[in-house]
Parts: sequence; C-alpha cells; structure tokens
Amino acid sequence: MKQLNKTDVAVVGGGIMGLAFALEAIRRQKKVTVFERNPSARGASVRNFGMIYPLGMRPGKIFERALRTRNLWLELGQSAKFWFNPCGSLLVARSKEEIVVLEEFVSSRQDIKGLRLLTLKEALKKSPGLVQDGLLGALWSESEICVDPQDAIQKISLWLENCGVNFKNSTTVTVVESGQLIANGEQWYAEQIIICSGSDLQTLFPNEFRNSGLVNCQLQMFRTNAQPCSWLLGPMLASGLSLLHYPAFTALKSYQTLKDRLTKEHPKLLELGIHVLVSQHSHGRITVGDSHEYGDTPAIFYQKEIEGLIRNYLSSFLTLPDAQVSERWLGNYVSHPSGEPWIYKPTDGVMLVNGIGGVGMTTGFGLAQEILPEC
Ligand SMILES: Cc1cc2nc3c(=O)[nH]c(=O)nc-3n(C[C@H](O)[C@H](O)[C@H](O)COP(=O)(O)OP(=O)(O)OC[C@H]3O[C@@H](n4cnc5c(N)ncnc54)[C@H](O)[C@@H]3O)c2cc1C
Repeated sequence: MKQLNKTDVAVVGGGIMGLAFALEAIRRQKKVTVFERNPSARGASVRNFGMIYPLGMRPGKIFERALRTRNLWLELGQSAKFWFNPCGSLLVARSKEEIVVLEEFVSSRQDIKGLRLLTLKEALKKSPGLVQDGLLGALWSESEICVDPQDAIQKISLWLENCGVNFKNSTTVTVVESGQLIANGEQWYAEQIIICSGSDLQTLFPNEFRNSGLVNCQLQMFRTNAQPCSWLLGPMLASGLSLLHYPAFTALKSYQTLKDRLTKEHPKLLELGIHVLVSQHSHGRITVGDSHEYGDTPAIFYQKEIEGLIRNYLSSFLTLPDAQVSERWLGNYVSHPSGEPWIYKPTDGVMLVNGIGGVGMTTGFGLAQEILPEC
C-alpha cells in the first residue's frame, strides 16, 4: 500500500523566503518539505546584488529585523559554507545637500554601530576606485554583508537538506487547502502551509493576490568582467540617489531639499527608478544596478538605454579597471505600498508571505523568526 505524503510544515517556493521559513521550522524540530517548481530557485533570490543592507531600512522594527537577519547570515555562512564578505558599505556624497543629509542621519542614529561620516581621504582609503574629483565625503557603515546570491541559495538549500529538510524540486504546487496540497498531481498533507511564491501571483490564491494591493517591480542589472590583478572594490557602494530610494532617510529634515535638487538634476533617472548600487563577489566581477519599473506589464527586453544611464551615473563616482559588461539580466520582485511585507491567512493553517520587496535578503530570516509562531 502506498504511504501518505505527510509533513508538518510545507513551504511553497525555494527562494530566500521559502528557505527562511524552512530554517525556522527545522529549528523548531518540525518535519519540513520545500516545494520548488524549478530544478533550483530561479526568482529574485538568485538575481540580486547579494547586499545584506540594514543601513537602508526604516528605523525601528524593520531595522531590528535586518540586524537579526544579518547575524543569521553570519552564522549560516559558517555552517553552510558559502562565500560571504562582511565588508560594510559606503554611501558616497558628491553635493552639499547629500553631505547635509548624511550629517543629520549620523547624528540621529546613535543605534547604528560603527556609523561615521568619512572625509574624502578616508573614503578613498577604503575604496580606491572612487572618483576623487567632486567627492565630498562618504557614509561608512560596518554592518553590511555581501553574499553571492546564487552560491548562497544553493549552499543553504544543501545544508538544510543535510539538516533533514525534504526538498521537492521540479515540483509545482497547484492546489492548496487547509491541511493539504497538490504538488505535481500528488496529494500531500501538512499541518502548516507557507506560500512564498515570489512574483508568481497567479498559480495559487490569485484572487487574494489580486485584492492585496501588491505591485510587481522589474529591475535591470549587469555584471562586469572579473577585475584584473585581484582588484578589490572594498565596501559595497551606494550613492546620492540611494538616499531617495531607501526609507531610512525619508523622515530627515534635510531630505526634501536633496530631493528637490536631484529631481532637477536627474529627472530621467528618477522617472526610471534608477539608483546605483555596486557589489563584488568572490569571482571578482562587479554587479551594478538598478532600475525599477512598476506594474503588471513590464518591458519584455533588457533596455540598453537604461544600462547607459546607469553606467553614466556610475562613472560619476567610480572608476573600474575593467568596466566591460559580461552579463545582463532582468529580475522581478513584489512589494506592498505600505512598505511592509504582506502576510495573509486565507484559511486555517495556510499563510501567504509576499511583498518583501527589494529587501528579502536583508530582512527575510528575521521576518520568518517573527511570524512562524503565528501560523
Ligand atoms: C535585481 C534585484 C536585486 C535585488 N537586490 C537585493 C539586495 O541586494 N538585497 C536584498 O535584501 N534584496 C534584494 N532584492 C530583493 C530580493 O531578491 C527579494 O526580496 C527576494 O529574493 C524575494 O524572495 P522570495 O523567496 O519571496 O521570491 P523568489 O526568489 O522569487 O522565490 C520564489 C520561488 O517560488 C517558486 N514558486 C513560485 N510558485 C510556485 C509554485 N506554485 N510551486 C512551486 N514553486 C513555486 C519560484 O520558482 C521561485 O523560485 C533584489 C531583487 C531583485 C529582483
């Protein structure tokens, strides 16, 4: 007689959010099964910068969540043996208005360890590729960690498997009800079902997703050749436009003056949601992005014009020994207008977790810790 497929916790989606819930559930001694419709995760979790970036998070609950997530990344890096670099970050300032925002930020955030406004000389020492001409200073933060997302997701999955998590890859979940689901046509029974389907809002609970207010966002990214002679970027980099992008800075008194200036100077970049972040992984290549296109019908093709605008802005603050682009890609994430993740329980024992937006790597583990007990 065929045995029933049974698990305590079923997780739909093998991206960072699915893995975060699998980790939390296995720590609580649950029997866990992760269903991933591709042979391995292929969504936003393997297309990002790998920036664990507490600095940009809204102060309070989300910042605390990011710090807890950061500490978990460090622990996991040791146990799952993926590459990680606790290199910190620099946010470079090239106008008086940017410096004023950074000064106000530093004086208002005593809670951030090792936060400091660096002089031009100090900034160049940490990041020798910075363009000196026009550089006024930079915000140094020591909390940020860089991971290579493809390497990290693969190794965390393998490590979880060794810890007892059952991975059902190439397996699509098509029906979920209280206590049961159907995956590749097979019936499974589970006490708790957690759905972390990323930007797939159509396969499961499409009506709930349609009414959720969640918005799709498409981003454009590229990566350069490996830099010659083991050239190192140093800390991960952000720049003036990032001050408008991240909620950490929005409530500062000096924010509006900066916004007015950047809106006048860079209308096209702001229209396309461009702000420029830079990271470097173990292979030496430099990942650069990104743009943000919101809505259900984003461009089908990668757009050269956007790449040109990003490269142009990048060259205003960073010179790379080899800036030739070797890879280009698009990625999608889903966010909620509230700026908070969207958590919804359509029926007993079933939870939809989505809308983590552009910060799933930065806050995902902490979020799973907070909400697993509720389900
Ligand atoms: C270009 C880009 C850059 C980013 N940079 C950063 C960054 O540097 N730092 C940061 O913190 N965040 C970053 N983000 C955001 C971060 O990547 C996302 O928040 C996060 O990856 C979302 O994870 P997820 O698990 O919810 O979704 P996904 O990674 O999309 O995973 C969802 C998975 O579910 C699977 N799935 C869906 N439906 C089913 C089904 N019915 N059955 C089985 N499997 C299913 C999919 O195949 C997919 O693998 C970036 C995002 C993008 C796109």
